[in-house]
Amino acid sequence: LTVLNEIPELPADALFGIKQRIAADDRTPLVDLGIGAYRDDEGKPWILPAVRAAEAKIHADTHTYNHEYLPIGGLPALTRGAARVLFGDDLADESSERIVSVQSISGTGALHIAAKFLASFFPERTVYLSDPTWANHKAIFEAQGMRTATYPYWDAATKSLRFAEYLAAVKEAPEGSVFVLHACAHNPTGLDPTQEQWEQLVQAIAESGHIALFDSAYQGFASGSLDKDAFAVRLGVEKLRHSSPVLVCQSFAKNAGMYGERVGCFHLVIPDQGEETNATVAPAVRSQLQRIVRSEVSNPPAYGAKIVGTILDDPVLTNQWHDDMVTMASRIGEMRRALRDKLVELKTPGNWDHIVGQCGMFSFTGLSPAMVKRLEEEHAVYLVSSGRASIAGLNAGNVEYVARAFDEVVR
Ligand code: PLP
Repeated sequence: LTVLNEIPELPADALFGIKQRIAADDRTPLVDLGIGAYRDDEGKPWILPAVRAAEAKIHADTHTYNHEYLPIGGLPALTRGAARVLFGDDLADESSERIVSVQSISGTGALHIAAKFLASFFPERTVYLSDPTWANHKAIFEAQGMRTATYPYWDAATKSLRFAEYLAAVKEAPEGSVFVLHACAHNPTGLDPTQEQWEQLVQAIAESGHIALFDSAYQGFASGSLDKDAFAVRLGVEKLRHSSPVLVCQSFAKNAGMYGERVGCFHLVIPDQGEETNATVAPAVRSQLQRIVRSEVSNPPAYGAKIVGTILDDPVLTNQWHDDMVTMASRIGEMRRALRDKLVELKTPGNWDHIVGQCGMFSFTGLSPAMVKRLEEEHAVYLVSSGRASIAGLNAGNVEYVARAFDEVVR
C-alpha cells in the first residue's frame, strides 16, 4: 500500500487542461485556439463529405459490413492506399518490395511502433527532436528507453528557421542517429524548411548514415495538396535509397477528420540492397512489426480503417477527399490573412506577417505566456502558453474579436 500511497500526481496535460477550463467557462464570446482540430466557419467539428459517402457505402454493403477482427498488420485497403498517398504511385510501385506497412492507432500509435522498433534494434541511437516539437514526441521515445536530444529549429527573435544551426546539428550528430522530421506543417511553429533547405538536410542525413523518421500528421493540410505536402518524405526516400532506412508515421486524424477513430499507418522503407537481400529483409521486418502490434493491440481497430480504406479504393471518393482537404486548407489560409490584416488595421505593435507565412493548423504567434494568460482571463480566448494558436479555431464570426484581444494584450 505504501507504494501506491506514495505515487506522485502528475500535472494535467496542458491541452486537455485547457479543454477543462473551457468547459467550465460560460463567457461569450469564447474562442478555443487550443487543440489542433479543424472547425468549420461556424466553429463546429466537420465530418468530411468523403467520409460521409464512404460510411454510406460501407453500411449499404450488407454482405461485407461486419465488425470482425482485422488482420494483425491492418486492413490491406488502408495500408496499401496509405503508402500510395505518402510515396506517390510511381515511388510506391518502384519501391514496393522495400516498403513494409502496418496499420497503427493513428499517428501516436505509429510513433509508438517506431519507438519500440528502434528500441529493439537500434537501442544505442539518440533520437533528435526539433526544438520545439509536439510535446508527445519526447514522451513516446523516452517511454521506450530511447535517449532523446534536440536540434535547433525556431528562432524566436526573427520568427524564422535556424537553418544553419539545424544543418550543423545534423552533420555533428553521431553517425546513425535518428532524426525525427515533421513531414510538413511543423507543430507547433507552422514553419517548414523550403525545398532547397530540405535538399540540404536530407543530403546531410544521407552522408551521416542517419535514420530519417518522418512524422506525417498534416499531409494535405499545409497546401491542400497531398503531393506537395509529401515533398520531403519522397525526397527522403529517394536520397536515402542506398544509405539508411526511412521510417514514416502517418496519421489520418487531421486530413480525413478522423480524430477519434485513430486511423494511421507505420511504414518502414528498407534501403535498396539488391533484389536478393531486399527479398529477405522485408519479411523479417514485417514479422517484427507485427509482433509489436500483436503484443499491444492484438488487431488494429476496424471502423475508421474501413472508412479511409474505402475512400482510397474508390476514385470518386478519393477526388472528393482531395476537394475536402482544399476546403480545409483554404479556410485556414483565409483566416491567417484575416487575422494578420486585422492586426495591421489596428496598428497592433509588431510585425504579423509570420501568421500568413506559416502553414498548417498552427501559428506560433510570438505572444508571451503572460499575454496568453491575459487573453484567457480577460477575453476568454484560449491558447497554449507557448503562444501556439490553432488557426482552425478562427472563423468569420470571431476573427475580429480575437484580433482586438491580441491587440489589447500586446499593448
Ligand atoms: N505528430 C504530430 C506532430 C502531431 O501534431 C500529432 C497530433 O497532434 C500527431 C503526431 C498524432 O496525432 P494522432 O495520434 O491524433 O494521429
